Amino acid sequence: MDSIITLEPVFKNMLWGGRKLETEFGYDIPEGQVGECWAISAHPNGDCTIASGAYAGHTLSWLWAEHRELFGNAEGDRFPLLIKIIDAADDLSIQVHPDDAYAAEHEDGSLGKKECWYVLSAEPGGTIIVGQRARSREEFAQMVEAGRWDELVYEIPVHAGDFFQIDAGTVHAIKGGTVILETQQSSDITYRVYDFDRKQADGSLRELHLDKALDVINYGAELPASGEVAASEGPLTTLEQNECYTVVRATVAGELAVPVSYPFTCVSVIEGEGTLCGEPVRKGSNLLALAACRELVFAGDMQVIISHP
Ligand code: ZN
Repeated sequence: MDSIITLEPVFKNMLWGGRKLETEFGYDIPEGQVGECWAISAHPNGDCTIASGAYAGHTLSWLWAEHRELFGNAEGDRFPLLIKIIDAADDLSIQVHPDDAYAAEHEDGSLGKKECWYVLSAEPGGTIIVGQRARSREEFAQMVEAGRWDELVYEIPVHAGDFFQIDAGTVHAIKGGTVILETQQSSDITYRVYDFDRKQADGSLRELHLDKALDVINYGAELPASGEVAASEGPLTTLEQNECYTVVRATVAGELAVPVSYPFTCVSVIEGEGTLCGEPVRKGSNLLALAACRELVFAGDMQVIISHP
């Protein structure tokens, strides 16, 4: 039985996407503007196929449904996490996501969406939107009506190596020139607040969802000063730990053994190359360590993002 499986990513063409998933990660991507790589996903809108081993050709959602023992009999009606790499050649819409309670009621039982961003690269002078300044639904609606976007949204500089936790209810937008690795709840519910009046290829505007956005925005949320990650001693840096996921950055220089005590662990190589438990891996490799894997043994020269529920 394979204790670590490799997944084939699913790619998404987006109005704001680019070509870096090919040029920087070596993925074989479709033509056009490709914005998202769903690297580890069992979501129905982009269900990854298992690339090798006994279950090759099956999807991750199939494996979760049929072989829960491989996941330590973890509970839940769906695989809970979704790992994406996002290439924003242009600005994403200004958006917000609901929490689990709101999504369950208004979105057909979907999960809500907490997400977090590890910035892989950013252009000099690049910025990102993480929060907003209105203190009430009425104030937010008025500022939108008046088109006072610059005052309303909270925009801060972004650099490679920054990290941002985006709770449900936080208004946010990834801006052009930024590539991030996103760890999120397995959900595809986005309420678009503003799309810069951009037209799609057919001349139409993408739909906005202002009423639902006004329902879910957290008007009391604190604004982060920056995305800077405090320097850590040792090779492991915990970037985020909440009730949905834990995200850790590992720096591998030589050998590194990371014990795991979770039913499964997502692993994405974001820089360099080497091996994981003897298997060759490189920047762009996405793997899932199953319950039988009790230790992630890395060798080489790499940066890796590790996450688990
Ligand atoms: Zn989002």
